[in-house]
Amino acid sequence: MTYPLRQSSMQQNYLHQNSSQHNPSMFGFSREELLKTITARQQPSYRAKQLFQNLYARGEKNFDSMTSLPIALRNQLSQEFSLLRPSIVDRQESNDGTKKWLLQFIDGARAETVYIPEKNRGTLCLSSQVGCTLNCRFCHTGTQKLVRNLSAQEILEQVACVKDELNDWQQTSNKSLNEPLENPLSRKITNIVMMGMGEPLYNFENVATALNILIDAEGFCFSRRKITLSTAGVVPMITRLGKVLAVQLAISLHAVSDEIRDKIVPLNRKYPLNELLQACRDYPRLKNSERITFEYVMLDQINDHLSHARKLVQLIRGIPAKINLIPFNPWPNSPYRCSPAKRMHEFAEIIQKAGYAAPLRRPRGSDILAACGQLRTESIKKRKSETHEHQPYQKI
Ligand code: SF4
Repeated sequence: MTYPLRQSSMQQNYLHQNSSQHNPSMFGFSREELLKTITARQQPSYRAKQLFQNLYARGEKNFDSMTSLPIALRNQLSQEFSLLRPSIVDRQESNDGTKKWLLQFIDGARAETVYIPEKNRGTLCLSSQVGCTLNCRFCHTGTQKLVRNLSAQEILEQVACVKDELNDWQQTSNKSLNEPLENPLSRKITNIVMMGMGEPLYNFENVATALNILIDAEGFCFSRRKITLSTAGVVPMITRLGKVLAVQLAISLHAVSDEIRDKIVPLNRKYPLNELLQACRDYPRLKNSERITFEYVMLDQINDHLSHARKLVQLIRGIPAKINLIPFNPWPNSPYRCSPAKRMHEFAEIIQKAGYAAPLRRPRGSDILAACGQLRTESIKKRKSETHEHQPYQKI
């Protein structure tokens, strides 16, 4: 399986410039790229840091508002760059407060992003690809062919768009960028999960670039412990993830035998359970305080026998772990039913008695198809016929 190589933000923005007639967007530039941009314009290097803070801590959408920069530099940058956001094509809000946005990027590709508010935290679920190659049988996204990887810029733009919508940027009024950042826990988005559309470890370089900007203390300032990456089990990349980023790891497990997992998570034929669980045991920096989350979707008569719960406990023995039991969220023409409530509770009880946390997740946003495994965008063909209705990017 081959995937497009990651282009640097600058290269991607060059492509954007050619395809959109807009100046290239600076949003998504790493610290290094900003430094290169600034020094090429004979400016002192600390201006790169100021730009970084303006972009990723304050979410400034135009250069004029970056009052920490001299006016001449602001004018120069606004003539050469833009700070575009993707178009928000659709917004939906669930009865339970979950919000979902459909974003359209510069080439018309679309991806969904979901915000799940809870009492003490707010979780943003990001997409890493448009569509997915992995075709997990219980997942709506898997019925959509992979259109392409999202760039680091597009992954970050999902966060920026939702922060705009929720008014969740740091206050800009009269506050010096040298003052300490606001308490991250006071924000509306406190946690990030890479669990939206796509397999993030098949888009590793772009995901890593975006996450590195998200955890930068002078930018978005998310703690590594508040960022979780979920994978269907791309074994060779799991160790690399731990070494390079050390974010929290979630595994879409969903079955306790290769026979069942081969069917519902076809990637298992390439990386069977024993290899996957060994990669989990070897995950760098794994300790009790940072457990691996195993996700287990409850499918009636498929993977929900009580003997499966007992086997699950045996399989993960020795791995600091918690098991998220996810009631199956149906989507149009989905081939499975959710397990009955009584069986899910009995299943959870067996795991809990073995000493593992096994919360039975309350489905969130299922009435707007925003719950686990329900994300999907329309085909490219349909989008092209619709593109006259939407500007691909919002000019700010
Ligand atoms: S569960 Fe994840 S990896 Fe599997 S098809 Fe859905 S989006 Fe792809």
